Amino acid sequence: MTTITITVPVVIEADRLWSEVFGGGYEYAPAVCRVKFDHGTTWEKAGVAQVFIENPENDMALVDRRVVIDDIAEAYGKLLAMGYHHCGAPLDLDSFDSCASFDVLQMAVFGELVFA
Ligand SMILES: [Zn+2]
Repeated sequence: MTTITITVPVVIEADRLWSEVFGGGYEYAPAVCRVKFDHGTTWEKAGVAQVFIENPENDMALVDRRVVIDDIAEAYGKLLAMGYHHCGAPLDLDSFDSCASFDVLQMAVFGELVFA
C-alpha cells in the first residue's frame, strides 16, 4: 500500500499554547519535572524556560534543556501528528491537564515520549 503524508497547518496564539503547557500542572506528573523561567518570562508569557526532567536512565539525575516557544510548538505539533490522546480524548488547547502538559515538555526535551 502506498501512503502519503499531508501537513495540516494549525495556527495558535503563542502565549496561549505556552500558558496551557506551563500552567497545565506538569508538577503533578509521576516523573520529576521542574521549570525555571528566564527573566521576563512567566508561565503565561512565552519566552525562555529551563526545563528539568528526571533522567529516564537515572532517576537520581535531571536532564535540563532551554526551551522557547518554537520548541513547545514543535513538540505540540508532533503530538498532534501522532494522534496523541490523553485521558480518553484527543489533545487540543482546551484539554490541557497535568499529563498533557508533562507530555509536551518531555517531547520538547527528549523528542519523544520516554515516560509513558
Ligand atoms: Zn490528561
